[in-house]
Amino acid sequence: MVVTDEAIRSYLASHRGNGVVLALPVLYPREVLTALDLCGVEVWAHRTPPGCCTQGAGSMQPYLCPTVRGARVLLGQGFEGAIAAVIPHTCDSMQGLAAIGLDMGASAMPVVTFRHPRGGDRASAREFLQAELRAFIASIERIAGRKLTMDRLGDAIELHEGIDRAMRRVLRMRTCIALGDVELYRILRKREWMRASDFAFELRALEQMIDSAATPRKGIPLMVSGMVPEPSDFFEAVDAAGAYVAVDDYAAIGRRLPMHDTQEAEPIGRLIDRMMGAAPCPTRTSDPWSRVRYLVERARAARAPGAILHTVKFCEPELFDVPVLRRGLEEAGLKVLHIETEFEPQMSGQLVTRIEAFVEMLGGGDA
Ligand code: SF4
Repeated sequence: MVVTDEAIRSYLASHRGNGVVLALPVLYPREVLTALDLCGVEVWAHRTPPGCCTQGAGSMQPYLCPTVRGARVLLGQGFEGAIAAVIPHTCDSMQGLAAIGLDMGASAMPVVTFRHPRGGDRASAREFLQAELRAFIASIERIAGRKLTMDRLGDAIELHEGIDRAMRRVLRMRTCIALGDVELYRILRKREWMRASDFAFELRALEQMIDSAATPRKGIPLMVSGMVPEPSDFFEAVDAAGAYVAVDDYAAIGRRLPMHDTQEAEPIGRLIDRMMGAAPCPTRTSDPWSRVRYLVERARAARAPGAILHTVKFCEPELFDVPVLRRGLEEAGLKVLHIETEFEPQMSGQLVTRIEAFVEMLGGGDA
């Protein structure tokens, strides 16, 4: 991860509150965890020691993405005294992991699944989501040993809505913040493991750095789309090449923010609105062209001449979309570079060179 495991550990040591919950990517009702005073810690890029992956993944297919391989190991070994693991139905690999935890007793902690509907916003999808949310709440209540009140849930939703609003603003105004991408993402990714109230505090400090009168940032604005910005020196490579991330479509960051505030008053309805309102993602959307339309609009607004599709090795949902995204973005006039990484500690020299060459090509055009 961008932060070291040590940073998470020392934070958790003093902020455990009523319990830690291991949360796997991508979308789950984190507002419910906040309302129950649980600290949800997301694991996207746990690096497993050599040999550990093959042991941990012994009951799974060999062609698994590193997120699932790392999570499989944590599930078996336990994680910071977590009282439960939340496994959303993100993809087939994640579903397989949930089955191993639930049916094969291979988890050191209780597993709670969360299935979100595929496809667009429609009445049947909302009905399904409502049932899933109620089942999720009941499971977590049972494990935590306390009841969730709708007042507490309403307060937690308000807190997360405020965070989402601030994150949208920071991402939109990022060229007016005197921070490089490395530092900016280091702060934004704290949401993956901090309690919401602590993260809101960090975000406020970031918002205060927005200076709309600042000189526009130098370099070529890029759009980046992928699951998670790992390895984190990706940003250093982009910066060194003379570009910066102007549009974020990482599933871990911008892609799972609801695009608008909810108008609903009742807490469960608000949760549904928030989930249905998240930006298009291949783990929830079956129409890649809706992603193309969304990304083209965002790239144009940011005047980004190019896009980097940054996929994780063996990530099926993302890889399925790559040909359509490439075609749609290129037809809209954007240049596209597709790179693939695992959770290696550093970018390879070859990838750095490809990014340099891509930015150089963009610099020779309209940018
Ligand atoms: S969506 Fe992709 S990266 Fe995420 S768990 Fe599934 S296969 Fe792995």
